[in-house]
Amino acid sequence: PRKMLIVVTPTYNRALQAYYLNRLSQVLKLVDPPVLWVVVEMSAQSPETASILRNTGVMYRHLVCHKNLTNIKDRGVEQRNTALEHIEVHKLDGIVYFADDDNIYSLELFETIRKVSRFGTWPVAMLAQSKNKAILEGPVCVGSKVVGWHTNEKSKALRRFHVDMSGFAFNSTILWDLKRWRRPFFNPIRQLDTVKEGFQETTFIEQVVAEESQMEGMPDGCGKIMNWHLHLDARGVAYPTGWVLQKNLDVL
Ligand code: UDP
Repeated sequence: PRKMLIVVTPTYNRALQAYYLNRLSQVLKLVDPPVLWVVVEMSAQSPETASILRNTGVMYRHLVCHKNLTNIKDRGVEQRNTALEHIEVHKLDGIVYFADDDNIYSLELFETIRKVSRFGTWPVAMLAQSKNKAILEGPVCVGSKVVGWHTNEKSKALRRFHVDMSGFAFNSTILWDLKRWRRPFFNPIRQLDTVKEGFQETTFIEQVVAEESQMEGMPDGCGKIMNWHLHLDARGVAYPTGWVLQKNLDVL
C-alpha cells in the first residue's frame, strides 16, 4: 500500500487566499491517494475556506488553532503545531509535509515525498527580493547523502540546517515512536513560538534528526527544483471582506 501524505497548510483570510488554496488543491487532487490535507486556521473556521475544501475532492481536515497570539508572525507556527498535535493524538501514519498556501508545488514533489523513510530534504528555489534573483536553500547531495547546504544569507549562517519550511518531509511516527527513530530530544516537538524568525525550520529539524547522516537527500543528487517559495506578501492588498459579491459590491 502507498504511504499516506499528510499535507499541513496554515492559512488565513487575505486578498489572494482563494487563489492560493485553489492552486494548491488542484495539485493535491492530481496526487495519487491517499493524501490527507490538514488545513489550519486561527480562532475559527472561515466559511470561505470551508467551501473551497468541500469542493476540492481531496480528503481533508479543517482544524482551528485556539491559541491567542499577539505576534502576527507566530501565527503560522502555532497553526502548524495544532496540526502536529492532531497527527500525534490520532496517530495518523504517513509522511508529514508543511505546505504553506502561497508556495508553488510540482506534482513530482509529492510523488518524491512518498519515498521518504525517516526524513527527506531537497533544495527549494526562492526569490531574493532585495537582489531580484532566484536563490537556493537546501541540501547539496552526493546520491541521497547530504554533504552540505546551499545558503546565501550571511545573517542566517548560524543555522544548523539550511532548509526552508517547504523543503523537508518526515515520517509521522517520529512524533511518537521515539525508540524506533532514536530522536535526539525527548521534549515535546512543539513550542516553536519562542524561536527567532528564520530559525524555526532548523530548530524544528534539530528536534527530529540529529545530523545529516539521518537525512535522505531527494531526488538523487538533489539537482532538481520541485517547489518554489516566492515570499510574495499580499497583506496590504485591498479586497472586500468575504467573497460573496452581492454583499460587497455597492452597485445600484
Ligand atoms: N499564515 C497564517 N496566518 C498568519 C500568517 C501566515 O495562517 O497570520 C500562514 C500563511 O497562509 C502561509 C504560512 O502561514 O501558509 C506562511 O506564511 P507567511 O506569509 O508568514 O510566510 P512566508 O511565505 O513569507 O515565508
